[in-house]
Amino acid sequence: MILGAHVRRRHTGIEGAIEEAELRGADCLQIFVSNPRAWAAPRYDGPQVGRFLDALTASGLRPCVAHLSYVGNVASWDPTTLQRTRELLLGTVHACDALGVDLLVVHAGAGGPQDRDTALGAAVESFRLAVSEADRTRVVVELMAGTSGAVASVPSEAEELCTAVDDERLGICLDTAHLFAAGVPLDVADGVEGLAQELRARALDHRLALVHANDSVFERGARRDRHADIGDGQIGEEGWRALANDPVLGSVPWMLETPGDADRQRRDIAHLRRLAAPD
Ligand SMILES: [Zn+2]
Repeated sequence: MILGAHVRRRHTGIEGAIEEAELRGADCLQIFVSNPRAWAAPRYDGPQVGRFLDALTASGLRPCVAHLSYVGNVASWDPTTLQRTRELLLGTVHACDALGVDLLVVHAGAGGPQDRDTALGAAVESFRLAVSEADRTRVVVELMAGTSGAVASVPSEAEELCTAVDDERLGICLDTAHLFAAGVPLDVADGVEGLAQELRARALDHRLALVHANDSVFERGARRDRHADIGDGQIGEEGWRALANDPVLGSVPWMLETPGDADRQRRDIAHLRRLAAPD
């Protein structure tokens, strides 16, 4: 398995995130390339890009994944927010290309009070723009937690979105806590197998690019998104064992986005490696 974690940059610069990933025994890493709570697009000068690329190459960590800032909403009902999101998205795509980022994760978006078709249309247009602008970086849509107005949380909705975007380059990121919140029974082996079958049946398995491996504080189907450390939430040992050994889900990198510190995430990564290892 290829395992890593979302890590924060340090004051020393964005390349400090690479040291954070190494502390966790990670194979890969996920970062923000701009302030996750601000609209400002990422801005790096030549020397900053050079230092990051050098550190990334020296670390051997791959893939390098970026997550779009949280403020954006690719399906927003508000024209100003939608416009600002697209500007931020394209600015982030350009920064990712320069920084050697492999995957850029973007939430599927939520339409608020709009009807779902309008929200879906806005998300589709946003993803088309991003995919066509990207060069080396693959744009990946992350499914949501079944929360109100979400454009895509479950595989049927992901299929609808991908079909409408109609571009093979668009990838998918599945977050275990989101799927569980949306009602997918990842706490039992049959549920995990059912998910993998559905991904294959909807031809989404070949689009799968990344798993966000998070336990869930709340129970299955709660439609509430709060991450827990692996084994401390509701997914349970049977669920994690099935997930780690699933041939579809296990074929792509896994990234922790859990609340634990470096030491806890290091243990969670080691735990998942043991679960995936043949007995
Ligand atoms: Zn996630």
